[in-house]
Amino acid sequence: MANITLNGRPIETPDGTLLIDVAKTAGIEIPHYCYHPALGNPGNCRMCLVEVVGFPKLQPACRLKAADGMVVSTESPAVLAAQAGELELHLVNHPLDCPVCDQAGECGLQDYYMEVGRYKSSVSEDKRHFDKRKPVGPHIMLDQERCIACTRCIRFLGQVTKTAELGMFGRGCSERIDLAPGKVLDNPYSGNLADVCPVGALTDRDFRHQVRVWYLDETPSVCPGCSRGCSIDIHSSTKRPWHNEGRRVARLKPRFNPAVNGWWMCDEGRYSYKTLDQDRLGKVLRLKPERAELSWDAAFTELAGRAGELLEDKGASGLVVVASGALSNEDWRAFKKLFVDSWKVVQFVFDPAPEQTGAQDPLLRRKEKVPNLKGGEALGFGTQVKSAPWETLECSIEAGRIWGLYVVDRDLTRVWGAKTAELLSRLDLVVFQGPFKGGTGDLAHYRLPATATAEEEGSFTNFEGRLQGYARALAPVGCALPDWRIFEGLLARHRARRREG
Ligand code: SF4
Ligand code: SF4
Repeated sequence: MANITLNGRPIETPDGTLLIDVAKTAGIEIPHYCYHPALGNPGNCRMCLVEVVGFPKLQPACRLKAADGMVVSTESPAVLAAQAGELELHLVNHPLDCPVCDQAGECGLQDYYMEVGRYKSSVSEDKRHFDKRKPVGPHIMLDQERCIACTRCIRFLGQVTKTAELGMFGRGCSERIDLAPGKVLDNPYSGNLADVCPVGALTDRDFRHQVRVWYLDETPSVCPGCSRGCSIDIHSSTKRPWHNEGRRVARLKPRFNPAVNGWWMCDEGRYSYKTLDQDRLGKVLRLKPERAELSWDAAFTELAGRAGELLEDKGASGLVVVASGALSNEDWRAFKKLFVDSWKVVQFVFDPAPEQTGAQDPLLRRKEKVPNLKGGEALGFGTQVKSAPWETLECSIEAGRIWGLYVVDRDLTRVWGAKTAELLSRLDLVVFQGPFKGGTGDLAHYRLPATATAEEEGSFTNFEGRLQGYARALAPVGCALPDWRIFEGLLARHRARRREG
């Protein structure tokens, strides 16, 4: 350990820790642009200069390591003058677009300038002019004038994705960030660049001009896009109207979690909220034989009665429950109580269907595009209870061995295509439960609306067995309920029916 003095405070820290990290741990923010814990410390922005007793010049805190006996100041007159001078230099060519810049409110230039700026500029020359609106890929817009040449983006693309789409071109006042010849910024993690850029030079095309950041609410959540389960924050805005075009979520951001996703998330997950407000189910419906809108109470009574009769007449072996790893741990527990313990169902399909698998890479993305197969496994689904193959299910329906299907958030039309309607028409009871319209839900006897992850609280267990909770960010659509509450409602009505004989 090293004992140092920081702004007059004695601090004990592991020997060799960077001063910028020591200060952060002690609650002291040292201004910086180029340093990022995951991308290194080139020391080119010169914003983090501090005064160290015995050193003839100011030292960059992102490069100097704490050593026993060091006496450091982050707020001496020399430090503040250096920071003001650096800011003036960074702003020589910066366009000051703050009123229209999406970074306003979370911009390193704005924040530090308010703290230590030299408010009277000594620069009288014209600012340089570059491309201000250059779409460099499907998700990122580049404004070359706003760039302060910190090189975080280049290091992200060099060290993390290893795709090197952006580079620094030109020298002196011609220096600018740009696409490398022949490249497009379309790697599966490109959205992270809007997070690493400390100013408004790289912004998210999807978020641009939607809402001011100070109107956003942040809710800690877990991405349901694959079995990695990245820690995220859901940014939504209930405080002010915004250009939402029917969207309730303004953006998703990765939440730092060294055990799961570090600082990053993939683009598939980042933009997955776009489907959240499309084709949602909000009403409880009986579709066959007569179409009717039901209250939850009536639906539970009717459905528990119909399922109970069929279970008694035809046996539990003719009912198949199709579910997926999209269920939370709370859902899986209620699922087991209803289907295994009470209805004695013996056939389940929960392996990911072809549409629930996709690209995998060594960084984050996993091929199972559901968050919680492990949660099901912990309750025996996949270990004691095996998933039936899709082909077997199809054959069993054709052979008349199945009388009913209970489908939880799976679309059978994506597996069986056009013949799904004919297959399901052979069954006495088809129930669909899920957040979205279309597909299986349109062919069912009962359609029950369930909440999406952002509209409920719960927990997922990721592919490595890490348990993570998530909070509710949004109100449910219509009368949608979390899956576990639907299972519990049916179970309560089933038990009441049996008590009544
Ligand atoms: S575009 Fe942003 S991240 Fe890249 S060098 Fe410029 S300021 Fe830094
Ligand atoms: S890697 Fe998986 S969990 Fe992480 S953001 Fe992408 S889809 Fe979501």
